[in-house]
Amino acid sequence: MKIGVYPGSFDPATYGHLDIIKRASQLVDYLIVGVLNNVRKKPLLTVEERIKLLQDITEDLDNVSVEAFSGLLVDFVKEKNANIIIRGLRAVTDFEYELQMAQVNQSLDKNIETIFLATSVQYSFLSSSLVKEIAKFGGNVDSLVPQKVSDYMKKKYI
Ligand code: ADP
Repeated sequence: MKIGVYPGSFDPATYGHLDIIKRASQLVDYLIVGVLNNVRKKPLLTVEERIKLLQDITEDLDNVSVEAFSGLLVDFVKEKNANIIIRGLRAVTDFEYELQMAQVNQSLDKNIETIFLATSVQYSFLSSSLVKEIAKFGGNVDSLVPQKVSDYMKKKYI
C-alpha cells in the first residue's frame, strides 16, 4: 500500500493546494495532508482552523485525511507508515529550498522518496501569503481559495 504525506502550513489552503491534493490522491493509495504546527512561524489560522478547512474542502476525496504534525517530517511520515512525501513546485524560486529539503529527508531516511508535482499553470502565482495580503485589505479572494476558505477569511478579517 502506497501512503503519501503532503506536508505544509496551509495558512490558509488555496486552490493550488487543493489541486495538488486531488492529483496526489490519484497517485497513492492513501494521502495524509500533514498540517505543520510550527512554533516558530506565526500563522493567521490555528492548526485546528487549518485542519477543519482542509477537511471541508477534501470531504469528497475518500482516500484523503488531514492531520497535524510537529517536529521532524520524516518522523511523522514513518509514524504513519508512509514512504512518500508530496510537494508542489510553482516556479524556479521554490526549487532550491525544495531540493534541499528532499535531500535532507533522504539522508535522514533513505526509504522515503519525495515526489514533486508541477503546479497547474493557472495556480503558479498563488500562495497563502498572497491570499492573506489580499484578504487583509478587503480584497476578493474567491478565485484563489475554495468558497469555505473564502467565507472563513472574510469572517476572520471583519
Ligand atoms: P510551506 O510552509 O511548507 O511552504 P505551504 O502551505 O506554503 O507550506 O505549501 C505546502 C506545499 O504546497 C509546498 O510544497 C508548496 O510548494 C505547495 N504549494 C503551495 N502553493 C501552491 C500552488 N499554488 N501550486 C502548487 N503547489 C503549491
